[in-house]
Amino acid sequence: MIIIMLGAPATGKGTVASILSKRLNVPQLSTGDLFRKNISEKTELGIMAEEYISKGNLVPDEVTINMIIKRLNEDDTKNGAILDGFPRTIPQAEALDKFLADKNIKIDMVLNLTTPEEEIIQRVVTRRVCSNPHCKTIYNTKLNPPKIEGICDKCGSKVITRKDDNVEAIKTRLKQYFKLTNPLVDFYDKKGVLTTEEVSEKINRMGKDVAEDIAQKLLKK
Ligand code: ADP
Ligand code: ZN
Repeated sequence: MIIIMLGAPATGKGTVASILSKRLNVPQLSTGDLFRKNISEKTELGIMAEEYISKGNLVPDEVTINMIIKRLNEDDTKNGAILDGFPRTIPQAEALDKFLADKNIKIDMVLNLTTPEEEIIQRVVTRRVCSNPHCKTIYNTKLNPPKIEGICDKCGSKVITRKDDNVEAIKTRLKQYFKLTNPLVDFYDKKGVLTTEEVSEKINRMGKDVAEDIAQKLLKK
């Protein structure tokens, strides 16, 4: 099963992908997490990617495509994956199409999450993440803080702010999103695989609500 998560930064892609991954028993493959793992391990890829990521820019297509294709060829993703953060540009989507066509795999769903822009900015500056790469639990200082400040409820590791979660970088990320990633909404709509869901405090519909509905829908299929 191939599910693609689409949506601006901090719309809840990671949260939804993680719930869907557990409910559908399909691994979550997050490009952001893969990059951050490489950054913390100071690999060649990580050192290069950090230059782009810390400023809120996208990592070049070629590097990103190679990283993901390599990961999709590993054993645990042979029955599918929930792609969280990939593709993010038309060339990335075309490369993925080619990879899937060669293996005769179809995309089951492209789940496009939308959130009002002021909520996105608010969410980003209050977002915190567990620094343990095996845990990565996401918190929010306002809506969902850890029980003990700065400490992960689940694993006891330090809870930190991502380097690119500041007002400056989020504005760049949003600009990049509308220019480079938003065209994918049309791209996948034309293929007939797009589902759009709003995630917003205003309508009291958060990522977990969307994830439960979508999981039900996909399990019934
Ligand atoms: P968010 O969805 O909140 O922006 P991610 O964790 O998905 O966060 O991504 C963090 C950063 O990693 C992005 O801002 C970008 O710099 C880089 N990145 C992630 N996925 C891609 C991709 N598919 N192509 C290029 N860069 C990417
Ligand atoms: Zn943790």
